[in-house]
Formats: sequence, structure tokens, C-alpha cells
Amino acid sequence: MATAERDYYELLGVDRGAGDTDIKRAFRKLARELHPDVSDAPDAADRFKEVAEAYEVLSNPESRELYDRYGHAGLQRGGFSPGHVDLGNLSDIFSAFFGDGHFGSRQGGRSARGGDIAAQVEISLVDAYNGVKVEVPLRVAAECDRCSGNRAEPGTSPTTCPTCAGNGVTQQVSQSVFGQFVRQSACRQCGGAGRIVETPCEQCDGDGRVVEEHALDVDIPAGIHDGQQIRAQGEGHAGAAGSRPGDAYVHIRVLAHERLVRDGDHLVTAAQVTMTDAALGVTISVPTPEGDYELELPAGVQPGEVRVVRGRGMPALQSSRRGDLHVHVEVGVPRKLDAEQRTLLTSLGEKLGDDAYRRDDSFFERLKSAFR
Ligand SMILES: [Zn+2]
Ligand SMILES: [Zn+2]
Repeated sequence: MATAERDYYELLGVDRGAGDTDIKRAFRKLARELHPDVSDAPDAADRFKEVAEAYEVLSNPESRELYDRYGHAGLQRGGFSPGHVDLGNLSDIFSAFFGDGHFGSRQGGRSARGGDIAAQVEISLVDAYNGVKVEVPLRVAAECDRCSGNRAEPGTSPTTCPTCAGNGVTQQVSQSVFGQFVRQSACRQCGGAGRIVETPCEQCDGDGRVVEEHALDVDIPAGIHDGQQIRAQGEGHAGAAGSRPGDAYVHIRVLAHERLVRDGDHLVTAAQVTMTDAALGVTISVPTPEGDYELELPAGVQPGEVRVVRGRGMPALQSSRRGDLHVHVEVGVPRKLDAEQRTLLTSLGEKLGDDAYRRDDSFFERLKSAFR
């Protein structure tokens, strides 16, 4: 090999007394720099190969000792043949070193993060208007308190897995045209835990986790919309021993209001007034999330007219802005008249003439009212 005589410590940039952690850190740093997604240097792959070879030797106490004492020749006599990394598949190499195939992941093979959990809550429009604290019942996997998550019945202890010697990973050696390639994967016997539980904990059946009913307090902000979700970090299922729990996602449903319809941050309602009230002007009560609001309708308000009440709509999320309340005016016309009413209305109709229905001022008033 062309690289056979390079000093491994020099390649990694560590001194001869470097500890395992320093060696690993140095290798990771170099590997990140040389990763094909990051580096476009033409010799990056070759340099990575050298660095990987150095790490292969120095990360193993046995081969490191041979190398320290006898150099490259010692490794050969000891039966080690480092440096045969299959560069045909760099992503395989990186997944072998970094775990999970995610470059840059700090997650080791055995520390799988806990699962996420989803829940749904229904709130009223009034609660969406004000913001509300809710308790969301969750069924989450939590660490078992009987065995503290170590899966063994109290009084017994897990034994070291004989297959992987407690490492949680096993190595498979494969041959390729570039030479030998060592790949690590989770140990089949212990599932990557590194330990075997002979007497499983009675409470969790050796799972290390139990399902718990748990009430999650969630602060729903004012202005939340139907269908939005809130993420509660770390409130999901517990992970395998010691690892990060998952998240809880709370899906918000805002229930329909009897009299108010939401349109973005605006609220829309309908108000019905009689023909005579519409003609004479009237004060009506319209609903808002804060209770009824007294709205003055001017004389001559028209059917289908929309009166806008500024700032009486929904609060905008994370803002001091507020939407408006839109009141659609419906005008009721009498469905039946007795003889006397008929006579009165006929004579009123004759007295009114066409002039009373002219738009001129009333249209201007409507325009003005929209900006009031
Ligand atoms: Zn247990
Ligand atoms: Zn094992």
C-alpha cells in the first residue's frame, strides 16, 4: 500500500499519548472535512482512506499496542491488515462510523431517540380568542421505576452480551475490489444494548419502559387557528436507556361558534332587523367572543349591507394586531298583513314615493361607515 509507511498519529494530528476520546474526536473532525458532501478536493477520498486506516488501527487497543511497539511491520505480523477500506461506497463508511447513515449525527447506534406522540384537543372559538391552558391526556412510554430502565428484575443484573462483548455492535468483514471493508452493525443477540437480561423486570417485562397516563399542560396562544399544531419538546416517549425522549405534537381543533364564523383574523356574523327598524335606525346586540356588542345601525341601513366593527375580530397570532367584526345586515319583511296594516302600508308607500329609496347620501354614508 502506498500509505503503509505514513505515521498514523501524524495522519490524525494527535500525539502518541492521545486518549481514545482525542483520537475519536480527531478522526471525526477530519472525516467531516473530507466528506464528499463537504469537500470537493480531488484527493479527499484518498486522504479519507488514509485517515480511516489510521483510525482503524489506533481505535483498537490491540492493534494500537502492536503499532506502538513494532510499527507497520508489527501489525502485519499480528494479523492486522488495515487500510482496506472500500471507497466504492463512502456513504456506507460514514454510516459505519457515524451511525444511522446520517452524516454529522451525534447519535450512536444504541441511543435511539424516543418516539414522537400525537394528540388532539378541541377548544371553543372563545378559548382561541383568549388563549387557554389545557391539560392533554397522553399515554407515553416512560422509564420503568422498578428497574430504572435497566430491564432486569431488582436483585438481578444484566450480564454482558457474549456476542459483542458489551459493545452493542458487531463487525462484518467483507471483501471488495479495493480490499477488505469492515462494517459495524447492531448486535443481533442483544439488539445493540450490549447486555443480556436473564431475569426480566416483572413490571415492564424486561422492556425498561412502561406506558403511563400523563397529563401534559399546554399553553394555547390567543389567535390560534383550527388545524395548527403545538410541539412540546421532550414530552413524547422515553428513549432507550439514557437517550433523548421524543416530542409531543398537539393538534388544535377550534370548534364552530353558534353565531360567529372566522375568516382569517376577521369574524363574521349576521344580524336581522325589521323593515321598520332598518328604515328608522336601531341599536342591536351583535355577538363577539367577549360578549355582546351594541351596534348602532343608522336609519336607512340596507339589506345585505356589511357593517365593519374595527378591532373586534380575532387577535393575530404573536402580534398585537386584531381582526375586525363584519356584521351582515338582513332586513325582515312582514310575511302577512291584516286589513288595517295593509291600508297603513299602502298609504305610507304612496307618501314615500321613489325619492325615499334614492341612494345618493346613503351610499356615501355606507362608505363612511366602513371606515369609521
Ligand atoms: Zn422494569
Ligand atoms: Zn450483543
